[in-house]
Amino acid sequence: MTQTDLAYHLKNIQHYYENTKVLDIDDLKIRKGSITGLLGPNGSGKSTLLKLLAFAQKPTMGSIFYNGRIEFPFSPTVRSKVTLLTQKPYLLKRIVFENIAYGLKIRKETKFLEDQVKKALLTVGLDYQNFAARKWHELSGGEAQRVAMAARLILKPEVLLLDEPIASVDTESAKLIRKASLKARDNWGATLVIASHDLQWLYSISDKQLSIFKGNIFSTGMENIITGPFVKTDEKSLVKKLGDGQIITLKAPTQEVCTAVIRKKNISIALERQPAGGVDNQLSGHIISMLLEKKNGQIMATISINDLSLILRLSPDQISHLDLYPGKKVILQFHSNDVEWI
Ligand code: ADP
Repeated sequence: MTQTDLAYHLKNIQHYYENTKVLDIDDLKIRKGSITGLLGPNGSGKSTLLKLLAFAQKPTMGSIFYNGRIEFPFSPTVRSKVTLLTQKPYLLKRIVFENIAYGLKIRKETKFLEDQVKKALLTVGLDYQNFAARKWHELSGGEAQRVAMAARLILKPEVLLLDEPIASVDTESAKLIRKASLKARDNWGATLVIASHDLQWLYSISDKQLSIFKGNIFSTGMENIITGPFVKTDEKSLVKKLGDGQIITLKAPTQEVCTAVIRKKNISIALERQPAGGVDNQLSGHIISMLLEKKNGQIMATISINDLSLILRLSPDQISHLDLYPGKKVILQFHSNDVEWI
């Protein structure tokens, strides 16, 4: 990846609120025209990172390069190229048409305005006849979010940052927001960074996923995070007790850390437990989703194990051999030594 391929390059970023560090990112590169999914529990720093990428907030320390040049927050030039859509969309207290046309009017680009608004509405699955004259408060959560998205798409931003865009929308809106996001990338090469709790939706849209936990981006790709509390059983091991009494055994960390990562490549799936003496973690759960990864023909499966969900990648052969389908009971196996502590 050369510098000219990059939309963003973050170097030695630290961000504090008061005296609390909430982001600590040594080096993060985001390629132009890519769609990056941002995963992580509440409070892990996703919104803060998006605000820094939107140049709406200044990092306490470090530099953000945008299109290869160091960029400063609040610069009007960059802020017109980069746009952030939040979970609760902000709409002007005007009709839908005015909300969508607003940006173009500000820019004095009002040629074919009606056509452009029509197109923008269509991109998010809203019909002009029905919606253009609606007031901002006559919209469902999903429609309001789509109007807010159309208001941004009409400006063809270089970067679209979406913070939990489908958290309070219906399934149809979630699909349309996904479609509109992909269109922005495909039609004018927009770069997108999207934070979402909906793993399945995020996975269906992003070509790369970053996991963020306690302000650290610790790995690329979707991996399994197991959070504490852990109980020390001896010098070498810890256990985590799940709500249903199942126990996960993990090799103890060498430093003070509280989060374990089990990579999906280290988890295997079976229909029955192996006899004792083999693998030391054998957890019983059921498949909650199976998603086809178009790029490699593999299937990403999410398995629910009481209060934990784990993901792993399966081949079509494994699926047919074990006759796997959503709802099926399975056993996940991994070695306590395969844990990575962050
Ligand atoms: P996420 O989007 O992953 O939920 P945030 O970036 O919103 O995470 O928050 C990261 C941490 O920063 C949390 O501990 C949150 O309480 C704190 N935080 C966020 N915004 C502020 C703020 N304006 N002032 C003080 N603390 C904040």
